[in-house]
Amino acid sequence: MPQILDGIAVRNEILERLKPRIAKLKRKPGLAVVLVGHNPASEVYVRSKIKTCGEIDIYSEKLTPPETVTTEEMLALIDDLNRRPDIDGILVQMPLPKQVDTRRVLEAVAPDKDADGFHPTNVGHLVAGRPAPRACTPAGIMELLKYYKIPVEGRRAVVLGRSDIVGKPMALMLLHESATVTICHSRTAELADECHRADILVAAIGRAGMVTSEFLAPGATVIDVGMNRVTDRAEAERLGRAEEFARKGSVLVGDVHPVEVARVASAYTPVPGGVGPLTIAMLMANTVALAEQHQAAAASR
Ligand code: NDP
Repeated sequence: MPQILDGIAVRNEILERLKPRIAKLKRKPGLAVVLVGHNPASEVYVRSKIKTCGEIDIYSEKLTPPETVTTEEMLALIDDLNRRPDIDGILVQMPLPKQVDTRRVLEAVAPDKDADGFHPTNVGHLVAGRPAPRACTPAGIMELLKYYKIPVEGRRAVVLGRSDIVGKPMALMLLHESATVTICHSRTAELADECHRADILVAAIGRAGMVTSEFLAPGATVIDVGMNRVTDRAEAERLGRAEEFARKGSVLVGDVHPVEVARVASAYTPVPGGVGPLTIAMLMANTVALAEQHQAAAASR
């Protein structure tokens, strides 16, 4: 039987470790979450981020500019948050409406308030291996590997997907832990063969159950980042979720075929309950680290 890597257990441990650090601070850490418009998925994510802040005594503030907001208005709002001493971390929930220049907005967040670790300055720190806020999803995956004592050093890791928020930072973090890393993407030739060489495979492509047994080496550790809502019955059947589909009318699946991974891998993250919970936990970790940094700097002035 393969080991199921339980993201909720790891999330709980990360949050427990943060509590004494928060208790030591003179002022609660503060996280501002900017949610533009009414995207239902974004609203769900923001709600759970704010709920988690409440669970561990982080002050949170939700700012909700209308769907019609302009880039200039977003920049003014970020500027205001950058100046506020009670706000340690700023998160701009993606996606932003078309008329807003996303890159300018993300780059306007002060690097020392960049709770998501997306600012180019912090990406540069990641490349150089210096401490800084890290992209939450891959940082959470590294915590999961550590929690389950899955060796990384010297092993072949394949990262499937090269996005700025998951694939690229994931590859760098695995490299810093001395894995031999391959990054695959939509132009990779012989994709299944590349993935089949992995001791550790991280799939982050946004394609429901595309990673089937031919991608998986027997005994591999498989981390499934994908979160895909399947609304087609035949597709749900292919993925072994016909029964759940019949009850709910749709199913949430990862990028890895859920039945085949359970047959071939030695350990894998389920969807849901695998990588998802880790992302929010690492957002909390980044916010606490930024608060510690701000309060230490204030004390030395
Ligand atoms: P992006 O769409 O930004 O990137 C997808 C990557 O996958 C790209 O590099 C793309 O290649 C590659 N890709 C797409 N299709 C294929 C294919 N058929 N074969 C090979 N490579 C392919 O996605 P994200 O990185 O933002 O997210 C990936 C998935 O992870 C999504 O399902 C998302 O919902 C989920 N996610 C989950 C999180 C969590 O907390 N659990 C957090 C963040 C994301 P190319 O660059 O060549 O186009």
